[in-house]
Amino acid sequence: MIMRLYILFSFLLLAVICSSCVDASGVTFGPLCSGNASNRKRGCDTKYGCGNYGAGRGNRKHMGLDIECADGATVYAPFDVKLNGKAVPYKNNNAINDGINLSGEGLCFKLFYVKPDRYTGTLKKGQKIGSLLPMQSVYPGIPSHVHVQMCDKSDPTKYF
Ligand SMILES: [Zn+2]
Repeated sequence: MIMRLYILFSFLLLAVICSSCVDASGVTFGPLCSGNASNRKRGCDTKYGCGNYGAGRGNRKHMGLDIECADGATVYAPFDVKLNGKAVPYKNNNAINDGINLSGEGLCFKLFYVKPDRYTGTLKKGQKIGSLLPMQSVYPGIPSHVHVQMCDKSDPTKYF
């Protein structure tokens, strides 16, 4: 009888723990970039298009959200995160073809155009991930930005 209660209790405890760790609703990204404390989103420009999720990119769609960030600016952990290796934006290499896979707060996402200081380990909210790569050298005149993309390619806008 005591054993059965113990097993029952263990399952209940597990259920409570899992509901709090998997539920990512209500998560908000802290500041991603130095000089942009409010996570200001990239708008639209005539040359390169818009920074919102779902914006047109020729015959494709923009599967992330762009947050303004100057070339060389410091990119911060938006909450406590685990670094899960390199994320590569392009098939053909260029000066901004680097990024990082991250997880935390029940979310799996990637940041593009960032040179991370390291690709593994953990960081606390506000600690430095790395620096924004020289986007102006590849897209002259574009509002430089970090590209935020969820691993399942869902819309990240609700977290901003
Ligand atoms: Zn983007």
